[in-house]
Amino acid sequence: MQKSSLTNAKGHGNINMREARIVLDQQMLEEMHAHAISTYPEECCGLMFGSFSGNAGEKKVLRLRRMKNAFEPKERYHRYTIDPKEFLNAEKEADERGDEIIGVYHSHPNAPAKPSEFDRGHAWPTLSYVVIEVRERKALETKSWVLKEDRSEFVPEELQIAINKK
Ligand SMILES: [Zn+2]
Repeated sequence: MQKSSLTNAKGHGNINMREARIVLDQQMLEEMHAHAISTYPEECCGLMFGSFSGNAGEKKVLRLRRMKNAFEPKERYHRYTIDPKEFLNAEKEADERGDEIIGVYHSHPNAPAKPSEFDRGHAWPTLSYVVIEVRERKALETKSWVLKEDRSEFVPEELQIAINKK
């Protein structure tokens, strides 16, 4: 059993990680997978927009935006970084639309859908981190993670796929 380390967490103390959940459409999942396959064997990255509203710890993804992997080309097979300017622009657009950045997705070519130490060092608490495992141009496992307030580790959160009503 893990200690309930969030009891004393400052700031977003209301988020109960054991109930953390992110909801997205099947179509968005397919969009992320398509992106991940298109950049293979390099990592892809993108932002998820939506709202934190609803139950504590639940996020609803309303739209995605592909971002450029701005890491140096030689290292893109296992690293990604989002250009800060591109990130700021995306944040501004979200502001204007009335939604917000609720998470980041990226792919792991030939590696499990689990954040790396590098990912942990560059992540923020409260955002969701969706990681897609890609092998031989096929998207395999997709998992979502949230960084603990003390940044010590990522914990898995439930990734719920909503079926499109079309
Ligand atoms: Zn990663």
